[in-house]
Amino acid sequence: MTTVAEAPTLPELEQRLALVACGENTRPGKTQACDSCRKKGQTLLRITSTGAVDALAAAICGTGDRRVKTCDPCRQKAVRMIRIYNGETE
Ligand SMILES: [Zn+2]
Ligand SMILES: [Zn+2]
Repeated sequence: MTTVAEAPTLPELEQRLALVACGENTRPGKTQACDSCRKKGQTLLRITSTGAVDALAAAICGTGDRRVKTCDPCRQKAVRMIRIYNGETE
């Protein structure tokens, strides 16, 4: 088996953000995001890097449409993810 070097895309941060989006808060002890949230990881990371809370909340909420009002839990997750991205301790 050959080792394929994958392009580093801040994988740890991506996983961390995916986990928050997945609802880490609601399930204590949860250490891994589900498949669907992990797939969204790159997108979430990209939006998080822009600091756009509304767009990020929309992505977490699953609509992807920023005209749709997102729910409070998703907004809080978005704020938290941006904090994590900025290296602020939780
Ligand atoms: Zn999930
Ligand atoms: Zn939501």
